[in-house]
Amino acid sequence: MTTHDDRLHDVYDEVLRRNPGETEFHQAAHEVLDTLGPVVAKHPEYLDTAVVRRMCEPERQVIFRVPWVDDGGEVHINRGFRVEFNSALGPFKGGLRFHPSVYLGIVKFLGFEQIFKNALTGLPIGGGKGGSDFDPKGRSEAEVMRFCQAYMTELYRHIGEYTDVPAGDIGVGEREIGYLFGQYKRITNRHESGVLTGKGLSWGGSQVRTEATGYGLVFFAEEVLKASGESFDGKRVVVSGSGNVAIHAIAKVHELGGTVIACSDSGGYVVDEDGIDLDLLREIKEERRARISEYAEARSGATYTGEESIWDVPCDVALPCATQNEIDEGDATALVKGGCRLVAEGANMPCTPEAIKVFAEGEMAFAPGKAANAGGVATSALEMQQNASRDFWTFEHTEDRLATIMRGIHDRCVQTAEEYGSPGSYAAGANIAGFLQVADAMLAQGVI
Ligand code: NAP
Repeated sequence: MTTHDDRLHDVYDEVLRRNPGETEFHQAAHEVLDTLGPVVAKHPEYLDTAVVRRMCEPERQVIFRVPWVDDGGEVHINRGFRVEFNSALGPFKGGLRFHPSVYLGIVKFLGFEQIFKNALTGLPIGGGKGGSDFDPKGRSEAEVMRFCQAYMTELYRHIGEYTDVPAGDIGVGEREIGYLFGQYKRITNRHESGVLTGKGLSWGGSQVRTEATGYGLVFFAEEVLKASGESFDGKRVVVSGSGNVAIHAIAKVHELGGTVIACSDSGGYVVDEDGIDLDLLREIKEERRARISEYAEARSGATYTGEESIWDVPCDVALPCATQNEIDEGDATALVKGGCRLVAEGANMPCTPEAIKVFAEGEMAFAPGKAANAGGVATSALEMQQNASRDFWTFEHTEDRLATIMRGIHDRCVQTAEEYGSPGSYAAGANIAGFLQVADAMLAQGVI
């Protein structure tokens, strides 16, 4: 007789067969399917009606040419993507990533994760993701603007307030969202605020959206610490990256009494035992768009390392906030050895499956990105609410909503993990709680 686990394996085999070479997507799908055994044992209807299989196949995938002209008059061709994965709970929602590593497998892994993350927020948003292999690094303002305009010249026909609402991700911040929104408005002749989130505060953006992912991550991590009677107070914290998520995570850790002693970029990392000087970091990264090595040049007592791994720095809490698969088995072993008690993912899928196994063996708490970094998209949904009602909330009110949402996600993960036989596993709790919400909506909406 075929068991439920066999049937889940068949779904995974189908994912491998239908999406050859898309290793990040395989990894993300495996990570979710691996935790669904107890769910389909209790609810075989999710397999019988192919809900699980349907969830692994995007509703729509768009790949397009993005031609643009650089400052010297040379023509460049990039590739644009938008994967509209699941709209059972609301319009597709998820960021755009501009980075040379972007290909279909990365966009699909991010879009797949987004389905469950968005469900966990409890807000009416489906899952999607997009981007391009364009590298904004070293490009002039005018080049970035022309690229964004060229990208939107195709994307506009696929998105809309009730269809698909993109936002930022790696390489896409408020500047890029501005150029994208401007081009959408120009082509459609509509000031449709709800078509993109992450907008500037004076033209339809929300308070706290910029800070939301980093702040939300730290709110979530604080709940995990609280569950074992601890807090951030006096903790040594290592944060990878120095972009949007990392900078705001550092700010909130410091506010809660912890000390961030190291952060990084793709070139290397800095250690500053007195605590990262956030003003200096922001000046280097947000104003000058320079390299992290300049931090160590400007601050006595700080050191820069170009070669080794940031995870060799001993800490109590690790917050990976850079990119996928940045903590492998060796890094995880170094973290356990260094006394780390909690890893909470600010980035999407920064820990490899082997690393997660090492955390479990070391009895270290692990908060998966699906739950821990959901604050960004949750606040995007709050931006959509404000746009729909032509309203603008205060910083305090919006931050309060974010904190409540993050605590709610935490509690839901804990309760669901317990209910399905994996007490203490935030990963199982997040996957199962997110899955159940989407699966029930799909069942209700029929085979579409
Ligand atoms: P960002 O502002 O572009 O910053 C990314 C940071 O990560 C930079 O410091 C970058 O260094 C570093 N980085 C990127 N690729 C790297 C690589 N291959 N190796 C080492 N370092 C690398 O992006 P972000 O918005 O903070 O996003 C960071 C992570 O959080 C991503 O996984 C993203 O999907 C996830 N996330 C973001 C949001 C959001 O609201 N922004 C929400 C949820 C999840 P360089 O400058 O040297 O490239």
